Formats: sequence, structure tokens, C-alpha cells
Amino acid sequence: MKTGKVDAGNLTAEQLRKVYLEYMAAEKHAIIGNASLIPEHDPSVLFTTAGMHPLVPFLLGEPHPAGPRLANVQKCLRTVDIMEVGDDVHLTFFEMLGYWSLGDYGKREAIRLAHTFFTRVLRLDPARLSITCFAGDEDAPRDEPAAAIWQSLGIPPERITYLPKEENWWGPVAVTGPCGPDTEIFYDVDPAGPAGANPAADPGRFWEIGNVVFIQYDREENGRYRRLPELMVDTGLGFERILTILQGAPSPYETGLFRPLVSEVETLAPAPEPFGVRVVADHARAATFILAEGVTPGNSDRPYIARRLIRRAVRYGHEMGIEGPFLARLAATVVETMGDAYPHLVEAQDQIRALLQTEEQKFQRTLRRGRAEFERVAAQYDNRLPGDVAFKLYDTYGFPIELTQELAAQQGLAVDMDGFQRAFQAHREKSRRGAAERFRGGLASQ
Ligand code: ATP
Ligand code: MG
Repeated sequence: MKTGKVDAGNLTAEQLRKVYLEYMAAEKHAIIGNASLIPEHDPSVLFTTAGMHPLVPFLLGEPHPAGPRLANVQKCLRTVDIMEVGDDVHLTFFEMLGYWSLGDYGKREAIRLAHTFFTRVLRLDPARLSITCFAGDEDAPRDEPAAAIWQSLGIPPERITYLPKEENWWGPVAVTGPCGPDTEIFYDVDPAGPAGANPAADPGRFWEIGNVVFIQYDREENGRYRRLPELMVDTGLGFERILTILQGAPSPYETGLFRPLVSEVETLAPAPEPFGVRVVADHARAATFILAEGVTPGNSDRPYIARRLIRRAVRYGHEMGIEGPFLARLAATVVETMGDAYPHLVEAQDQIRALLQTEEQKFQRTLRRGRAEFERVAAQYDNRLPGDVAFKLYDTYGFPIELTQELAAQQGLAVDMDGFQRAFQAHREKSRRGAAERFRGGLASQ
């Protein structure tokens, strides 16, 4: 591939995926498919959270049918990041650009591949890259080889930080098993800021755009780390963060990937507010992808995540003055902008629309009933709404506590949140005891 020919500054999402895969193919990687968002072999996790997830058996030694050098673009979903959404870097649903070596190449090649992609193919300014490497401890030595490789590629030592296991170590998945140090790549979005900052300590300024893991050790039963005969490489690069940088946007929401969706939210909302717009756009997109997998909103596991995303989006939409159902319209925009890369969205669009409509109607009804009940009870108080009253709205009417707080504030009422928490805890204790009683009763009657 003629890496010099890419006008990286103008890449669209579609082109970035293509440029990445072409680069990896030219670097002799087999391009493997984009696995389902629902892990096939791993019932312990709800969603595919990283590109390596579907590849775990192969990283553990099973030979991959496509060979030892693999790459792809993988759709991912992280429920742990839902509360981060609204910042400039975390999305619930995102895409990861991955490449793997299953005992083929080593550290030098793994690092060179990332460095070449960022600085030659995409032409990111090398002076804005910062690197972290594993600091070393009683289990495994400091990853000086990785740092030396970065330095040989032109990264100055003051831009390389050594950090402990919490930051720069991956695995094992269970108590024992393969694991190893990683090296993370950060892009400085504020190069005028003070020099020498630790990238991991300032995530607003240093965006983590990639992580290269060297699976080099086996953690044994006795807690010792045994060096593995073969090195495995697992790399994940952040697609939306890279696209944001290339398009010179302040966050993914201003890139071509999100713009149509964001404009739609802003048009629908009489009183758009930046954080709410981001949450609604992110959640509509994530929910669309979950529903496309055949998940129906419900009360536990994956169905619950779908429900939570939909309801949170509706709640924020409602706060911005959107009346009536709107998520199906946003889903249509998601399908329009992402359908080329993800044709399964197009196939599932009728089903997505129907599920969104049903779920949204249900929640709108909850909101209406809760609101009526709120008006009725709130009229009885002058300046403080008792916690147990707020809890009853939440528990009996399914009315979100944030909405109670908001409506109360509009009437000059404060909600007794400590009282709410106490009522919440007491209720949890009671239902736990109830479950234990039922359980014992069940055993006794056998
Ligand atoms: P962060 O510390 O920023 O949350 P992470 O350490 O959780 O990132 P990894 O698990 O190493 O990230 O994932 C590999 C890459 O995927 C990251 O370097 C980042 O570019 C991207 N990434 C991770 N989480 C998200 C997310 N929620 N939204 C968008 N991109 C993400
Ligand atoms: Mg994270």
C-alpha cells in the first residue's frame, strides 16, 4: 500500500475502516469477520467488549483457521462505560480496530505496526504521541524492551511513562492463565499544555487511542508468573477517537459518523442541551445495535441493558422537551449512517423500529402516570418532599428519581435524598430476606 497517498485529514468513517484493513492486509494480516455483539462462547459476559474477546481461545493457544496474523474492525459495547458517556472519549457502543499475532511476530513488529499506522498512514503528528509501558514489579520486570522500541522509532524518553499493573497489564481472565504487560498510545489534544504530564493522569488531554498487549506470562495456581514460550500480541485501537482526531473535531459527536444523528436530536428537542444531546445520540445508537441482535427489552441481562439505554435516552429527551416517541426516528438515522458497514442493521430495521416503539410507549405511560402522581403528592408539601414519598414514586410508579428531583425543583421543593436512600436500602433488605425465606421454605417442603 502506498501509505503516502492517503489524505488522512479528510477521511470519513467508511474510509478509515477501509484504510485500516488495507494497511493490515498489506502487512500480511488475514482480515477476519466482525463478530456478533453477543459473545458466542462466553455466557459470563453480556456483550463483546473488545476485539480480542471473540479471539480468546486462539490467544490461549488454539490455532486460528485464518493463520497467525489477524486483523479486523470489531463492534464493541461496554456497559461499564454508560456513566462515562457525555465526555469526549467514551461511547457505549464503539468500534475497535484490532490486530493480533498468534506466536508469529514479537514486540518490535507489534509496536512498529501501530507506529506506522498512526504516523505514516494517518500522518498524526508524532510529537503529539505519548506512550506508557509497564513499570515492573515482583512478578515481572519493567518493560524496557517496549520503551526502547518506541525510542528507536523516535518517541523521546520524556514522552514515555512507566506505570504499574493497574494501568499497564492485561489479564489473566480468571485467577490463572495467560496475561502480560501492555503499552498504551495516547494522543495529546492540548499540546500547549504543561510538558511532562503523565498521560494516564489526564484523560481529558491525552486520549488513549490504542493499546498493545503482550501476552507473555502464565499466572500459575501458586501466584507465580511463568514466562510463556511464545509471545501473543493483542492490539486494540479506538476507531471513533482516531476519527475525531483526523477530522479535527472536539469529540466524536462532531464527526461525520455522529453528525446526522446529533442534528436529528437537536431538531427534535425544543430545548437541546449539550450533555443530553450526546447521551441521547449515544444511547440511541447503542440500543439500535443491541436490538439488531434480536434482543427484546426486559428486566435482566441483555434485555435490561437495552431497556436501560432506551429509558435513559427517553428521559434525557423528555428533559429537553421532546414530546412523544422519537427513538425510532433516531434508529432510522443510525441505520442510514451505519448500514453500509453493518448490513445486518438494514435487515433488522423493521424489528428495531417495532421494539423501540413498544418500549418507548411503555415508558412514556410510566412517565405520564408518575408525573400525575407526583403532582398529586407534591401539592401536600411546602419545601421538602419526604424520602419515602419519592421512593414510592420510584418503586410503585417506576418514576425515575432524577425526574422527581427535577419536577420538585421546579416547584421549589427539595427531595430528601437521604430519606430516599434509606427507604431504598430498607426495601432491598426486605426483599432479600423475603427471597431467603422463600428459599428456605422451598427446601423444607421437598
Ligand atoms: P479508557 O481508559 O479510555 O476507558 P480502556 O483502557 O478502557 O480506555 P482498552 O480496553 O484498552 O481501553 O480498549 C482499546 C481501545 O479502545 C482504547 O485504547 C480506546 O481507544 C478504545 N476505547 C475503549 N473504550 C472506549 C469507549 N467506551 N468508547 C470509545 N472508544 C473506546
Ligand atoms: Mg475504559
